[in-house]
Amino acid sequence: MRIGAHVDSTDPLAEAAARSADTVQFFLSDPQGWKAPKLREDAERLRAAEVDLYVHAPYVINVATLNNRIRIPSRKLLLGHATAAAAIGARGLIVHGGHVNAGDDLAVGFDNWRKTFAYAADSGGFGVPVLIENTAGGDNACARRLDALARLWDAIGDHEVGFCLDTCHAYAGGEELLGLVDRVKAITGRIDLVHANNSKGAFNSGQDRHDNLDGGTIDPELVVAVIRAAGAPVVVETPGGVAGQAADIDFLRQQLGTERSAA
Ligand SMILES: [Zn+2]
Repeated sequence: MRIGAHVDSTDPLAEAAARSADTVQFFLSDPQGWKAPKLREDAERLRAAEVDLYVHAPYVINVATLNNRIRIPSRKLLLGHATAAAAIGARGLIVHGGHVNAGDDLAVGFDNWRKTFAYAADSGGFGVPVLIENTAGGDNACARRLDALARLWDAIGDHEVGFCLDTCHAYAGGEELLGLVDRVKAITGRIDLVHANNSKGAFNSGQDRHDNLDGGTIDPELVVAVIRAAGAPVVVETPGGVAGQAADIDFLRQQLGTERSAA
């Protein structure tokens, strides 16, 4: 099983080595900004690497919203990131499920997701698997709770779309981790990546505050159980820099009884 971390984008392969990780996730641009990603000068080196790469799309992207001034640039930015992620041989592009504003109809939000995939298909396709990630907060989210996720998949499930399960977001979002993988797979049919994080916030607090696996409010054994059941690659998005993340990766390898995959 491949296990890694979310790292700084300057030299992701060095970050992977520092953590003995065989998988890394990083941003291709400022996660709070609207700038299109530039093609990376180290694209060839990244493509050739034995480390598996995942790209996290900016947080500002919200393709579900009814607000045109957010939705339209979100679509373009998502497609731009998909193109740039494909250029470095990334295994997936992770994007948050998004939300509609208070008082807006969530059904329109799901239809906006459908239109996003139609837009991408008209533009030649994303070129990389797009993995929609569950989120922790908000009352109008497309992928916080599983009832909404089921409606989202009704809208987009015919397209090639993957799912990224974040344990912190699920727990803080109000979904019990016990049996969660089966309940998710009953909707999506797949889990492509697990974001293994503990949560500083309490169950159903709606707080997106990651903690190291041995800290926080979640029993770490439950996180391990989710990973086992999902059978998907794992990325920790935990604090503490190299030392904190390396300890989380070591903990998971010990619990799961797996060795580092890459040489
Ligand atoms: Zn995450």
